[in-house]
Amino acid sequence: MGKPLVLNRRQLLAGALTGAGAALLPRPLLAQGAAPRVVVIGGGFAGATAARSAKRADPRLDVTLVEPNTVFTSCPFSNEVIAGLRDITEQRFGYERIAADGVKVVAEAATAVDATTRNVATSGGGRLPYDRLVLAPGIDLRFDALPGYDEAAAERMPHAWKTGEQTILLRRQLEAMPDGGTVVMALPALPYRCPPAPYERASLIAWYLKTKKPRSKIIVLDAKDTFSKQRLFEQAWKELYPNLEWVPLSSGGNPTSVDAAGMTIASDFDTYKADVANVIPPQKAGRIAELAGVADRTGWCPVDPVTFESHLIPNIHVLGDAAIAGAVPKSAFAANAAAKICAAAIVRLARGEMPATPKFVNTCYSIVAPDYGFSIAGVYHPVNGQWLEVEGAGGISPIDAPASFRADEAKLAYGWFNTITSEIFG
Ligand SMILES: Cc1cc2nc3c(=O)[nH]c(=O)nc-3n(C[C@H](O)[C@H](O)[C@H](O)COP(=O)(O)OP(=O)(O)OC[C@H]3O[C@@H](n4cnc5c(N)ncnc54)[C@H](O)[C@@H]3O)c2cc1C
Repeated sequence: MGKPLVLNRRQLLAGALTGAGAALLPRPLLAQGAAPRVVVIGGGFAGATAARSAKRADPRLDVTLVEPNTVFTSCPFSNEVIAGLRDITEQRFGYERIAADGVKVVAEAATAVDATTRNVATSGGGRLPYDRLVLAPGIDLRFDALPGYDEAAAERMPHAWKTGEQTILLRRQLEAMPDGGTVVMALPALPYRCPPAPYERASLIAWYLKTKKPRSKIIVLDAKDTFSKQRLFEQAWKELYPNLEWVPLSSGGNPTSVDAAGMTIASDFDTYKADVANVIPPQKAGRIAELAGVADRTGWCPVDPVTFESHLIPNIHVLGDAAIAGAVPKSAFAANAAAKICAAAIVRLARGEMPATPKFVNTCYSIVAPDYGFSIAGVYHPVNGQWLEVEGAGGISPIDAPASFRADEAKLAYGWFNTITSEIFG
């Protein structure tokens, strides 16, 4: 977090702060006696962080977290579960500590948002009035986007892009596959949750096959020609995984349809028969964002970079994967950082103060084998209403690093995960 933002009138009018944010400044809710009500929808990396941070920053806020699951199951490190390197129980976190901090946790789904009366309807039939609403529902999969891939097809060809039953299903299918089998992955175009994660998954599946089913192979059909940390991944594949074939867009890799009954995936140039298929379809913001009216035609939610308030509906802030936040990647690291910025902005607005100018770092680790990790880091700041990467800041792991360096980075990745999850849920 940086120093307080001082805006001149022209900047205010130009929308450096949204109208609603600015309009609240003369009416500090905290000064009016009643506790300002902050409702947070979604208890994942973004929402759980936002709820807890807001309550900690000002215990006078009345903070409610709405999340249907009593236990959160994390996507980061779920690729390790698929590869058999980690048990899914290590991915699970409860909300008890968040509740102990004074956040009211409602174990229901939000079913509707009335932005006019400022009410959230929940699956239990309740209504939660709010002064500020934080929407952090993560993603939904677009089951209409890849012909043949619907919810029923996902039972045969799991996406495993939300961690839980789908993750276990993919793991079981890999275990059941005879040696000599072919795993086919289908990857979407950007934007989607965690851009490097499919390549980490491909690597770890290749590691599993190499160590347990050495006559098997994995083919990765991709709707893109380039991807994050590409040189590092490709170097690792060359070194470790002759059993992995990446077919980019320009080589006809773009997945065009699937046939779940026949276990085939068609691409621009060919049809691939799979023994195990992992189809990651295109995505959009979680459905409640659409219902609340904060998602635009892209399916994602445009937000103000200082407060994360929706550009479409006042008093609703959108965080995490659901938001379109310029250059900021859809990662748990960024979701957590953005949620802290948003919570601080909400507290300041409730006090009638200007939000501070934010700046934050995102570091994204990938693990390609048990002792082999690398990372990329970026620093982001708001420029003209958009999050941009600070040029010259951040960095990427060296391409020619020794094995000990890769092993250290793998340890750092686990350290990051333990730190972020204990900060949010511990
Ligand atoms: C395989 C994989 C590996 C990844 N690895 C990494 C990594 O190494 N590092 C990293 O930084 N990121 C990683 N990510 C990305 C990371 O998981 C997401 O960016 C992060 O979870 C986004 O947080 P979120 O809070 O927006 O969504 P989520 O964490 O998905 O949380 C959304 C929550 O909202 C709830 N919800 C949805 N709808 C409603 C509703 N109507 N009412 C109430 N609650 C609702 C859901 O139940 C869920 O708990 C990975 C992702 C995948 C798929």
